[in-house]
Amino acid sequence: MPFKQLGLCEPLLRAIKEQGYTEPTPVQKEAIPIILKKRDLLAGAQTGTGKTAGFTLPMLELLSRHKPHSGKPVVRALILTPTRELAAQVAESVALYGKFLPFKSMVIFGGVKINPQIVALRKGVDIVIATPGRLLDHVSQKTIDLSKVDFLILDEADRMLDMGFINDIRKILAILPKTRQNLLFSATFSAEIKRLTDSLLNSPALVEVARRNISSEQVTQVIHPVDKEKKRELLSHLITQGNWKQVLVFMRTKHGANRLSEQLSKDGITSAAIHGNKSQNARTKALADFKSGEVRVLVATDIAARGIDIDQLPHVVNFELPNVPEDYVHRIGRTGRAGNFGEAVSLVCIDEKELLENIERLIKKDIHKFVIKGFAPDPSIKAEPIQKKRGGGSNNRSRPNNRTPSPRGRR
Ligand code: AMP
Repeated sequence: MPFKQLGLCEPLLRAIKEQGYTEPTPVQKEAIPIILKKRDLLAGAQTGTGKTAGFTLPMLELLSRHKPHSGKPVVRALILTPTRELAAQVAESVALYGKFLPFKSMVIFGGVKINPQIVALRKGVDIVIATPGRLLDHVSQKTIDLSKVDFLILDEADRMLDMGFINDIRKILAILPKTRQNLLFSATFSAEIKRLTDSLLNSPALVEVARRNISSEQVTQVIHPVDKEKKRELLSHLITQGNWKQVLVFMRTKHGANRLSEQLSKDGITSAAIHGNKSQNARTKALADFKSGEVRVLVATDIAARGIDIDQLPHVVNFELPNVPEDYVHRIGRTGRAGNFGEAVSLVCIDEKELLENIERLIKKDIHKFVIKGFAPDPSIKAEPIQKKRGGGSNNRSRPNNRTPSPRGRR
């Protein structure tokens, strides 16, 4: 089925053609006609499915059908995302697909100066892509007018709730006009998401695309059992022996990510860390250097890496297993995309036995275990509880406080 049959206008078809897309992905096929009928939508789709174009294309189409006649543009469409990286990526897609249309779009997130955003808003924009915290800063400073928004998209809504954005989201919903079209995209459906959708969506259509088949041929998963103290050495060994050119390494904590990145650099392996404590400019630079191949290893925490779209990423390493088993699926979904081969390697020490069991239960599969010569675990080492930072931090998916940054902190 070609894109033409979806009822998109010529400027959009031209932009799609420029991207080299020949046909819509399953989520696009299903979601675009529903959105164009102006219905609310609840979509179960994760990064890698083509979901961004799935909501951006029909949004642009609807905006172009109801062009205001004259004057300064007003914000008619609002897209909320959990992280700055995702906001930036969605904004890129909006600009890309909308390049032959006359709309102005802008991205709003914290960690950068607010004044340039105020200047851009004053000039007028049609589409805003924002993280909730900084958007509310603009609301309270009255530097944004959301009274004409008739199109709202919540992208990666599950992650927004995980990150504690529910109150911010409710505040934003309260100031939007009551009549509007709402789309909610989420990879998972918890009770909390259900509550949000019940109050937000108006008789929504439901679209659910299959989760990426994580046991597919395209992603090889392997576990290397190893002692905790030997993990860094093993990682350097794998990278150099395998001549890996581009590898994304996951850590549980920001501190751990920094430390590992420094140690790898000492081993002569170019590396950068990406996490919520870094300035936005540092994060953007780290990602750009990694994409260009200047940096060989990108060490990331789950939240910072979420939604990052890197084509043809061949290696993902879980230096530490995630506390939440679903994060394992998200992590390994960074590789083996768009028909390319990928490998997901997990370095697992005795302390992580329970985390591994939870992951294998979730994916309904035993992951192949392979001890690398010279790195066999010492059987006399006893398991120790995995260190979690002190502090409350509770939510429905019981994760430790250290991976739930406060919304304020993420501005
Ligand atoms: P997303 O799930 O939105 O993060 O998209 C994942 C990737 O799929 C992005 O790199 C898009 O450029 C790409 N993509 C989106 N739609 C299509 C399509 N119809 N055909 C081929 N690639 C696509």
